[in-house]
Amino acid sequence: MQYDCVIVGGGIAGLQAAIQLGRYRHHVAVIDSGDGRSTVCRSYHNLIGFPNGISGAELLASGKKQAEKLGIRFIKATVVRAERDADGLRLITSDEMSFRGKRLLLATGVKDRLPNFPMLFPCMGISVYVCPDCDGYEVSGKQTLVLGAGNTGAQMALTLTHWTVDLIYVNHERSPVDEELRRRLAEKRILYIEKSIRTVIADQAQFQGIILEDGSSIYRERCFVAFGGNEVRSAIANQLGAQLMDNKHILVDQRTKLTSAEHVWAAGDVTAHSEMVTIAMGDGSQAAIWIHKSLIAT
Ligand SMILES: Cc1cc2nc3c(=O)[nH]c(=O)nc-3n(C[C@H](O)[C@H](O)[C@H](O)COP(=O)(O)OP(=O)(O)OC[C@H]3O[C@@H](n4cnc5c(N)ncnc54)[C@H](O)[C@@H]3O)c2cc1C
Repeated sequence: MQYDCVIVGGGIAGLQAAIQLGRYRHHVAVIDSGDGRSTVCRSYHNLIGFPNGISGAELLASGKKQAEKLGIRFIKATVVRAERDADGLRLITSDEMSFRGKRLLLATGVKDRLPNFPMLFPCMGISVYVCPDCDGYEVSGKQTLVLGAGNTGAQMALTLTHWTVDLIYVNHERSPVDEELRRRLAEKRILYIEKSIRTVIADQAQFQGIILEDGSSIYRERCFVAFGGNEVRSAIANQLGAQLMDNKHILVDQRTKLTSAEHVWAAGDVTAHSEMVTIAMGDGSQAAIWIHKSLIAT
């Protein structure tokens, strides 16, 4: 069977697009591997209608239910390959399933490079954050630790001075920090520590601090993680010849979300834009509108 549209990625952008395409009564399949940022985040605080926050899991579950009522099919799988032939586009998963679509939407997102401390994960979005535009407000006036690497961590610490003056930056990977950044950290009275972390201390979702390799501990209420090197999941777009930016984000037309590859759209964090839920939703809707226009034009 050939779908009108196959969506790779059932996170925020993919689900929003699926709902919109379902309301146009198109036949749509969403292939999702279930390991996106919206799976990681335990609470979003900047969304209209949710002043007390909502978890990624709750948003995804209700979005999926809403899409299923519109006849959208969901497949739990990882797409590893994409091909184009005379009949359209073909997506192949890691377990060799194959799906055909007249149109393709890539909503595969970005994967954060996070250190492997299991105690961090229940805290994500509640007391440990990655995005200052999303969650800088959450550290207002709070004792905050930046756990990171090199210049990326230093820049994060400096950015957070907009909300708090009580900052410590631990360069866990001891990667180089430019002289100028070190000078600015000192100027802002941000304590800079170049040591590895042995373990993270947390009480369920509440981050409490860290123990360094030398056995000393640092207690803090909040933490930002900033290692750099996040994975932009644009490999499928690349296989189909869609143009990528130098930072691997997929280049799209700002009005339509169409990539430079015929019949291939992209939406959400994987495209070149601000990485936020509201923007991913907007992108998903916008892509769906133009996919619909393209389908009814044929
Ligand atoms: C800790 C944390 C806190 C955050 N807090 C906020 C906040 O407070 N406010 C805010 O606006 N934003 C926040 N964000 C960012 C927000 O989560 C993202 O902007 C949003 O999830 C982007 O949606 P998306 O659909 O583009 O990507 P995602 O939600 O990451 O979804 C991408 C989906 O694609 C799937 N996928 C990827 N590759 C494949 C493949 N090859 N085959 C099949 N499926 C695939 C993944 O499994 C995933 O389900 C936060 C992020 C994190 C990590």
